[in-house]
Amino acid sequence: MSNYIVLVKQVPDVSQITDNAFNPETGTLIRTRLASVINELDTQALALANYMKEISGDRQGKIIALTMGPPMAEEVLRYGLSRCADQAVLLTDRALGGADTVATANPLAFAVRKIVKELLKNEDDYFVISGMQSVDGDTAQVPPQMAEELRLPCIAYVTEAEFKNDRFEFTRIISGGSQVVAAKKPPAVITVARYEFPLYATFSKTRWANQTKVTTWDSEDIKATHIGVKGSRTAVIRVFPPGKSTRKCRQLNDANSLAKVIIDSFKSGNGETGTAGGEQINGYVLPDKRASLLDRSFEGTKKEQEDYAILSEKLKELGIKETNQIDDQAKAKILTAAGENFHDRALDDMINGLKLTKPAFKGEIWVVAEHNEGVTHPATFELIGKARELADSLETKVGVCLAGYQVESMAKELIAAGADNIYVIEDKLLSVFDPTSHRKAVADAIAKYWPQIVLYAATPQGRMLAPMVSYRVECGLTADCTGLDIRDSSRKGDIALLLQTRPALGGNVMATIRTKNSKSQMATARPGVMKRLPPDTSRKGNVIKHKVEFSHDDISLEIIKTELGAGDVNFGAEVIVSGGKGMQNRDNYDRLLSILCESLRKKLNTQIERGASRAAVEQGFVERIHQVGQTGTSIGPKLYIALGISGAIQHMIGVANTETIVAVNSDPNAPIFKQCDYYIVGTAEETIPQLAQALEQT
Ligand SMILES: Cc1cc2nc3c(=O)[nH]c(=O)nc-3n(C[C@H](O)[C@H](O)[C@H](O)COP(=O)(O)OP(=O)(O)OC[C@H]3O[C@@H](n4cnc5c(N)ncnc54)[C@H](O)[C@@H]3O)c2cc1C
Repeated sequence: MSNYIVLVKQVPDVSQITDNAFNPETGTLIRTRLASVINELDTQALALANYMKEISGDRQGKIIALTMGPPMAEEVLRYGLSRCADQAVLLTDRALGGADTVATANPLAFAVRKIVKELLKNEDDYFVISGMQSVDGDTAQVPPQMAEELRLPCIAYVTEAEFKNDRFEFTRIISGGSQVVAAKKPPAVITVARYEFPLYATFSKTRWANQTKVTTWDSEDIKATHIGVKGSRTAVIRVFPPGKSTRKCRQLNDANSLAKVIIDSFKSGNGETGTAGGEQINGYVLPDKRASLLDRSFEGTKKEQEDYAILSEKLKELGIKETNQIDDQAKAKILTAAGENFHDRALDDMINGLKLTKPAFKGEIWVVAEHNEGVTHPATFELIGKARELADSLETKVGVCLAGYQVESMAKELIAAGADNIYVIEDKLLSVFDPTSHRKAVADAIAKYWPQIVLYAATPQGRMLAPMVSYRVECGLTADCTGLDIRDSSRKGDIALLLQTRPALGGNVMATIRTKNSKSQMATARPGVMKRLPPDTSRKGNVIKHKVEFSHDDISLEIIKTELGAGDVNFGAEVIVSGGKGMQNRDNYDRLLSILCESLRKKLNTQIERGASRAAVEQGFVERIHQVGQTGTSIGPKLYIALGISGAIQHMIGVANTETIVAVNSDPNAPIFKQCDYYIVGTAEETIPQLAQALEQT
């Protein structure tokens, strides 16, 4: 008999976000200006749990909804009870507030333990099910970290479940395709990426849900080891509005005007892309390599930069070149100049900061390589490019952690891409990606060599592996970074920290995060944002073999079927035309893309390739190899034309490096219109033949 513990979270309704929902000074969200709703993917998790219970044929299995939050979060539990949950548990305590993902996963895992012991009477056939991520956090880290705490297998990004041979099989999204897997044995943690069969509440169920008692626990009840701000391993140091997209977002009203801008922008292509909030050059210099130790121009926050600027200016005026020349008289003058900016204690901290030269973290900059069947994921090369830049400014080496079977030969191209040391962990049991065995390999190598920074690609694989590894080695982790910079926090005694910048709240704000209480700083970074270096085959590097013992117990999942894109596609083409779910069917996709590609080829005299959204691939319009995006291919053509594509983040990060993006969509509010250069509101069926004709006549 299986039981289901479903994690549900109350989140701000970011779909209704308005500009006045943000504090313009700090960029932080004013929670009271937004309604609170249940995280949409958690409703899908409830629906999947209900479906699993149904298809297992076992009516005795219990569904228990669990949430952690303020007392008002009880509302989402009542939502669960009115749909399918039999019981509900609220974990609420002020001490749990301000938590990062570690200090969220840890108490939730302890609550699961208590549920299993007390409500399920130690029955160990259960699944913990949750949405893959919440719209406010967006990290997808909590479920895999819970799995690590509970020592359970984790099956992430599930889209379907079947009950076969007396067990559940799950279809899930993986890099470049999909996979059917089963946990070797329950319990297991499942995260839901999409399950579109919503549950509705009946009148009587709603009445029952409102009368049912919710079990309420506080932090003392669960005895978690990491809670609240204190138990967190990351801290937000800055929140700010995202930079304005440099995409033009211009609406055109007819096919002739669109044809004209397509031809013009293709011909005048300047190699510039128009993404916002992306990567910038770090340019950091260690304190003892600066012209003077008094130079503190690499402070992490604006406030720190301003305060040190006042201090430096005054020291210069007073002719002070060494910190030991700062006497009480000088201090008094500095404090007068500082006015309200800082007082004596802060000044002492700043002066102590001026004496610091040693970085807060030691060791190499590592990249965890992602690969499949001997082919390295492009994001790995991008991360090596970034790691090289960071390592050069920190005067250390770039290491790559390469776990797999018969993978040593891949070391050459990793060295050519900018790596110095390749840490190879080989075992037959690592031949396909299993989260538990690969977590063991990577965590073991990290715990031996302790790099100061570890970067993973924010692919489905990286977003699952990184939380498990970081939790195991007790380090903080930031998800989906678009900026990685080295900066100081001299007055707090920290030199050369990795500042990790990421979009949050569905891209409505940017947050800069630092690691704390950790031996290494870890981040996943979005594919397509960091820049790959041109390969240099003359570069020399070392292969270091790291031995880890594996047994079959280290494999947590049975892989039943893997479907990856096959065939030949030239995504290096200058023009890529993609069709989405809005193409309606395979015939339309074929017919309309053929018409447009043919006119473009004739007019622009260049190669044109076909792409697709994931939804179009899943509808069977075209083979998976054509998929563009986070789990497809990241591309950077001169011209990208998106037909009937809504503009989901997972699709758009795959086209971030495109020069000009054109969109055709029948929905005037399609999100892609805010992320493209030119667009037409219209159906593909009507617009494309007109555009093809206009191209030929222009
Ligand atoms: C872990 C994970 C990884 C993912 N990886 C990827 C990825 O690599 N690539 C990817 O694309 N997605 C990916 N997705 C899925 C992504 O979230 C979206 O679901 C997907 O991109 C939507 O595809 P779509 O825009 O074609 O479909 P929809 O979102 O359904 O949009 C269809 C659009 O067509 C428009 N439309 C309808 N009819 C017409 C018409 N007649 N003419 C013109 N327009 C019309 C509609 O207005 C709508 O905007 C991933 C999701 C997850 C969870």
